[in-house]
Amino acid sequence: MTDQSHLDSLYFIDNTIYNCPYCNRRHVTYAITSKTAFDWTKDKQCWAYFAYCRSCNNTSMHLSFQDLKTTYFTNSFSRFDDDLKDLDSRFFFSVPTSFFVLDDRIPSVLRDLITEADGCLKSNFLTGASACARKLIYELAKLAKVEGANYEDRVKALKEVYPAVDGTFFDTLLSIQSMTSTKVHENALDNWAAKHLRVMLASIREVLHEIYVVPALRADRRKQVLKLQDELMPKPKEVAIDARAAMAARPNLRNALLDVIPKEPSGPSIE
Ligand SMILES: [Zn+2]
Repeated sequence: MTDQSHLDSLYFIDNTIYNCPYCNRRHVTYAITSKTAFDWTKDKQCWAYFAYCRSCNNTSMHLSFQDLKTTYFTNSFSRFDDDLKDLDSRFFFSVPTSFFVLDDRIPSVLRDLITEADGCLKSNFLTGASACARKLIYELAKLAKVEGANYEDRVKALKEVYPAVDGTFFDTLLSIQSMTSTKVHENALDNWAAKHLRVMLASIREVLHEIYVVPALRADRRKQVLKLQDELMPKPKEVAIDARAAMAARPNLRNALLDVIPKEPSGPSIE
């Protein structure tokens, strides 16, 4: 079976199953409790959809510029239509934000900025997305206690301080940002800039994963292996202590052992 873990990073798996942002349960059933339209601008409509988790009874809100067809299956619950595929891509903003998508070993200040950048990108607010990406590098440098007068210097300093992280990601961050920053300010709705910002954010995600998640996973596995090893082989020091304690508790055994062991003047003493 192919790896399906990408489904864990979505809100909506399909029109009946989703990953709940409240109880953090994956693949629980949900229903749409209501749908309402409002005017985003004078000539652009927006729809809000309310998704109810059937596991924890909380309701999340999801905004889209598409009028997605829903059908009632009980008096109060409806479902998105079967032919609506790739539901997540149709929403540009959700409350709560998809916090569960990012590993909680990544500091929350960085997770907040990734979530905000994603939200900006989905709404095509490219200046906002670009600002979030720069702020992320600034905060990451602060956490790593590295100096740098500007974005470029900080990325270079981070690359040096984290040699275990694949350097390609830092190189991508350097090359892409110089192209993107001018483009973003020239034309905020340019699709070219959106694509580049997406690559920039994907690189930042990889960097964060390698800095905060990979070493933690490795440490966990190391701890597990050491624990198994300890169970199999008690430490030599403990054996010595156990033997001494056993002899102290059983003076007859001690005397018996002393009788059995040949007394050699230069040999090791049992005492
Ligand atoms: Zn839930």
